[in-house]
Amino acid sequence: MTKHLLSGHARFRSEYFEHESDFLQALARDGQNPSALYIGCSDSRVVPELLTTSRPGELFVVRNIANVVPSFDHADASVGAAIEYAVAVLKVPHVIVCGHDKCGGVKAALDGVDKLAAHKSLHEWVSEILPAATRAREIEKGDDKALLRCAVEENVLYSMENLTTYPAVAAALAAHKLEFHGWVFDIDAGKLRVYDVTAQEFVEAAVVAH
Ligand SMILES: [Zn+2]
Repeated sequence: MTKHLLSGHARFRSEYFEHESDFLQALARDGQNPSALYIGCSDSRVVPELLTTSRPGELFVVRNIANVVPSFDHADASVGAAIEYAVAVLKVPHVIVCGHDKCGGVKAALDGVDKLAAHKSLHEWVSEILPAATRAREIEKGDDKALLRCAVEENVLYSMENLTTYPAVAAALAAHKLEFHGWVFDIDAGKLRVYDVTAQEFVEAAVVAH
């Protein structure tokens, strides 16, 4: 069943590892110095390194269902530890929270968590999205598609708000050593929307060529 993955690894060895050996050996020798903490959804269609064309060492990644950041007083130790390590130890200058359209986790929160009662962990986790779902219902009066899109965006903003409750994050923000970025990946169009703080809305990402 995993045969194709192992043959994929063989291709990685021959096509990437051999090609980039100087870069990868330097990275292994010198340690990581990522430029961003990326918090995104576990959804298999939203691959952070692919959608940002990032190399190894670039992104310190946390992925969970619906890119949730529980507040510090509600903290999940796995998410909390990754945030503290990235911000306080690695001292990343950027934090990105990236949601995506058609997110199953956000949709589950909109549909009502009672349906998940048989799955304790899933029920508990998706319940973290309920405040964002409630906000979306207050803002968006359109159809289900528009409501989900809005809830995905509100969920990114809610996670960003919760990030500020972590002392390590608050300290880095106060010292002007950390910038926040809210993104939503449109999986149909393959495009990012980014949160514009001035306009207070998500807008299509400006494409900056390298
Ligand atoms: Zn998702």
